[in-house]
Amino acid sequence: MEHLTVLRFNVGHSCIFADMKTALKVYNTLARKTEEFQPINPPFVGLYVCGPTVYSEVHIGNVRTFTSFDLIYRYLLHLGYKVRYVRNITDVGHLLDDNEEDKISKKARLENIEPMEVVQRYTVDFHKTMMLFNTLPPSIEPTATAHLIEQIELIQTILDKGLAYESNGSVYFDVLKYSADHNYGELSGRNIDELLVNTRDLDGQDDKKHPADFAIWKKAEPQHIMKWNAPWSLGFPGWHLECSVMSTKYLGTTFDIHGGGMDLKFPHHECEIAQNEAGYGCAPAKYWLHTNMLTFNGRKMAKSEGTGVTPKEMITGNHPLLTQAYSPMTIRFFMLQAHYRSTLDFNNEALQAAEKGFRRLMTAVKDLDGLKSGNTSFFTVEDWKEELYAAMNDDFNSPIAIAQLFEGVRLINLMKDQGETLTESDLAAFTSAFKTFITDVLGLTTEEENDSGEVDGLMDFILQLRNEAKARKDYATSDEIRDKLNELGFEIKDGKEGTTFSRK
Ligand code: AMP
Ligand code: ZN
Repeated sequence: MEHLTVLRFNVGHSCIFADMKTALKVYNTLARKTEEFQPINPPFVGLYVCGPTVYSEVHIGNVRTFTSFDLIYRYLLHLGYKVRYVRNITDVGHLLDDNEEDKISKKARLENIEPMEVVQRYTVDFHKTMMLFNTLPPSIEPTATAHLIEQIELIQTILDKGLAYESNGSVYFDVLKYSADHNYGELSGRNIDELLVNTRDLDGQDDKKHPADFAIWKKAEPQHIMKWNAPWSLGFPGWHLECSVMSTKYLGTTFDIHGGGMDLKFPHHECEIAQNEAGYGCAPAKYWLHTNMLTFNGRKMAKSEGTGVTPKEMITGNHPLLTQAYSPMTIRFFMLQAHYRSTLDFNNEALQAAEKGFRRLMTAVKDLDGLKSGNTSFFTVEDWKEELYAAMNDDFNSPIAIAQLFEGVRLINLMKDQGETLTESDLAAFTSAFKTFITDVLGLTTEEENDSGEVDGLMDFILQLRNEAKARKDYATSDEIRDKLNELGFEIKDGKEGTTFSRK
């Protein structure tokens, strides 16, 4: 495979906050400490984030992780970095622990449809969801199935280097041999001896030399739908392989930031590092950033355990645990009120408080435009701004940044209600920083600004729910949805081509 070792994109835009930028610090999971952020090849930054496995709708926990990386991406862009953001789509190879059946294959088998239909349906759904939450699209969104050739090449390289072995048509990474001169477990802190003892008995384990070895190529069972020809068998790649190959292809053998949820540290990211070290001879990323989990009423949300609440359910309020519907921007604001490395619990009280807080913030944005300047300034705008940047530079501490914005809200209200003033230039600087932070960095928009694309996306969701109700002959619900939408000013038409809506 040909590697792009240097990020090749155009220079020409200087950093807006050169001094602020040098102060950025990030918590590097690999180093287990906070470090100064120094890109390998400034002003370029390569950012790779593990994307979703598209076998079902994403749940709101997944949305939290992608929103956290959206904040990180937005802040890096705001600082003037030229970021290439790669977030993959896993469309093959993600195996269930218990029976090692590919998640996408399983869904296709159960629904009697093509795996690519499963992939298409949930990729489109994922994009719509990401738009609703105002997350910026990545620069490149590669899929695993489109990089089979590169994956087969990497397997061959690892085999050639003697760090993998073939067994009954499958290829396994030789963890023990690799560990002789590499630190397997360096990211997750797992101990190799414990791994050898504790690894559970899995289907096909007899093919492995050691229980800790992991498959980089799996021979397909006859009933397995997704399979490709490779020198070892008709089969499919191991899940961890795609991220090694696609991050290297688009960002180079060593790039700046690799991210994902904390639950991916082991085995996914640990195996990825091992594959890169074995195949390309170097570590994939300089900084590893991991986001913490979202819980609902104290329980971890997980697709595979069926405990996930979907964005649709949140937006419509149609879930037994929800007492009302919450707008995507309320949810986004709620998420940003917690630091990305802290756990966050969804519950109705906390979401209702966030709804009020978000409204107060957006009312202040509107109030800003009506403020008049004066001859003197009653506070120092630069000091206020400095604290805002200090918060974000401290490992993207959005809750502290939001607290500083609320200090801004207090100051806006003093100007509005008590006649306090800022000079013309101070007012302009304050207004610009306040608005830029809310819209560009935090990615928050008023519900009205959101109106065009977002409402369309929301309506698609709601009409889809209504169609689902109709399909199960639950006409009471489908009529209730139509009547409620009518009340809200939308006309719903059921026709041969499907259901459409228009504003009354
Ligand atoms: P998956 O589609 O399961 O591979 O997950 C996509 C991303 O969502 C990964 O980075 C996971 O770590 C992350 N994720 C999964 N569950 C949660 C959760 N409850 N809270 C936050 N992030 C999660
Ligand atoms: Zn990955």
